[in-house]
Amino acid sequence: MKRLTLLVAIIMALLVPQILNARTGVSYGPSASAFSVETNSDAQQVKLRIYNDGVGGKPIKTVNMKRAKAGGNLWQANVKGDLKGKFYTFDVKYGGKFRGECPGIWATAVGVNGKRGAIVDMERTDPQGWGADTRPAIAAKDLILYEMHHRDFSIDESGGFTYKGKFLALTEPRAIEHLKALGVNAVHILPSFDYASVNETRLNEPQYNWGYDPVNYNVPEGGYSTNPYRPEVRINEFKQMVQALHNAGIKVILDVVYNHTWNIDESNFQLTRPDYFYRKNADGTYSNGSGCGNETASEREGMRQFMIESVKYWVEEYHIDGFRFDLMGVHDIETMNAIRAAVPQDIFIYGEGWSAGSCAFPGEQLAMKAHIQQMPGIAAFSDEIRDALRGPWDSNSKAAFLGGVKGNEESLKFGIVGAIQHPGVDYSKVNYSKAPYANEPTQMIAYVSCHDDMCLVDRLKASVKGITTDEIIRLDLLAQTVVMTSQGVPFILSGEEMLRDKKGVHNSFESPDSINHLDWNNLERYPQVMEYYKNLIALRKAHPAFHMGSADMVRRNLDFLPTENCLVAFHINGRNVPGETWGDIYVAFNTHKRARSIEVPEGKYTVVCRNIKCDQAGMGTVKGGKVTIPAQSALIIHN
Ligand code: CA
Repeated sequence: MKRLTLLVAIIMALLVPQILNARTGVSYGPSASAFSVETNSDAQQVKLRIYNDGVGGKPIKTVNMKRAKAGGNLWQANVKGDLKGKFYTFDVKYGGKFRGECPGIWATAVGVNGKRGAIVDMERTDPQGWGADTRPAIAAKDLILYEMHHRDFSIDESGGFTYKGKFLALTEPRAIEHLKALGVNAVHILPSFDYASVNETRLNEPQYNWGYDPVNYNVPEGGYSTNPYRPEVRINEFKQMVQALHNAGIKVILDVVYNHTWNIDESNFQLTRPDYFYRKNADGTYSNGSGCGNETASEREGMRQFMIESVKYWVEEYHIDGFRFDLMGVHDIETMNAIRAAVPQDIFIYGEGWSAGSCAFPGEQLAMKAHIQQMPGIAAFSDEIRDALRGPWDSNSKAAFLGGVKGNEESLKFGIVGAIQHPGVDYSKVNYSKAPYANEPTQMIAYVSCHDDMCLVDRLKASVKGITTDEIIRLDLLAQTVVMTSQGVPFILSGEEMLRDKKGVHNSFESPDSINHLDWNNLERYPQVMEYYKNLIALRKAHPAFHMGSADMVRRNLDFLPTENCLVAFHINGRNVPGETWGDIYVAFNTHKRARSIEVPEGKYTVVCRNIKCDQAGMGTVKGGKVTIPAQSALIIHN
């Protein structure tokens, strides 16, 4: 009898899962579920409510939660029975007043619009074969990032997708074949966690948002699922997306927005632990380093742990390959380093090394671009190379290198070497950073456009007077040649390969589909663009000289040629680069409206890129001496 009791106790212990690490919320077991929530120490009462549905209806059960330890912050409740398919909320009382129901900060499944947590058997959300899914092995130096928004990519009829604007679109052959043909090996998906600005109960109406307004950080967005009411559907479909991309050898990088919440009063942070997660100014007002009305306090133990656990969760549960930190400069250096240390080395981490306002935290401790050297294994976007190409961020109408404006050459070189210390760069003439910010070139993201600001076509139209379509194409291809021959990690905005435009809209975060969508017919309209992008990416991938991955190697093997305004050229000694089959490689960018030339040593060189054509197999040869670069184009030759 005693033995049997012990056995029952052991079985019960196995069935009622214990809360592990810092994650709270619900742990499902078939005979009971364990709930937990963390509060501030002055919380007076916590009510747990169980519902049949994710929205509406009365609670089927209300439980007063208990403090795990007298005076502690953790509250717990075990509820018997099989609660699979039910929903729950926490409601915390402070100062005699309940603050309102919410799913807590650690919901991993939610009902429609993320108002209630959902009780889901996570193992049942795995698609077939998920157990065998692994992250593709691609080193940071070999990555080619493709930044995309689900709706931009697949919403338009011209794309021919079945699952328009959904996670599942990325499982469709059309998507996979396009990405593979282009040659990118990582998609960076714009916010795909549960955000606020799309009403999930009205998905039959067109609604668009980038999604930088987080609600539930650890749940996929319902608007991208085929059924936001059924919590397991979005989880399963997100996993199917990851699986399909992984099967194609493509990594999945999540855009994460821990720096702010969509508002303060209704955030899960504030409803459970008022004022704990946000930074305040000396006068008691909320600091707004995000430009979105608030800023989180990553330096606080609870916030830091939340970020670490959240990132780990996406890696473990969804097999995510990397993270792009929105406004990383709002976070503190120590937290970013702790996140780096908490995930496997192959997880690629990068972010915006700036904030959108001043932060209520010492500037020297913030994870800004200028501090990247203190954050090994973390990269930052280079606005130096971006703005040297297209023009400054504070004006759409100002052109730079692409528009034939002199004075951007050193900033371009800064981006070509990957923001490292290099004897060929005059840092005093670089547009923003007057010193190298990266220890290794893989700590710099090379790009000319992203979802923010105008896309490349619009920017060229807005900044280069009287530009023709032919010139747009020439300069577009030239710009991406700079990006793809940079020693940094190259990054392109989805749709640039089909010459997308956003009708001149500079901030399209909530613009209609007609502005944001990709027009897939452009692939037929401008076949030379996709063709060039494809060949250019293939060239980079096949030649380690363009992604050496080590600052020492870049310093040793890459040198700049003396040139003139609006003409930048460099040489790479491929003989010293492991795996490189080319010897001397010369690359030149000319944004003059007429041909220019560079001097290279005598010899015979194979042309692989010239006059907006690119083919690594070779397109004829040139003799050394004076080599011509046609107007507004790039040249790559080798021996
Ligand atoms: Ca949502």
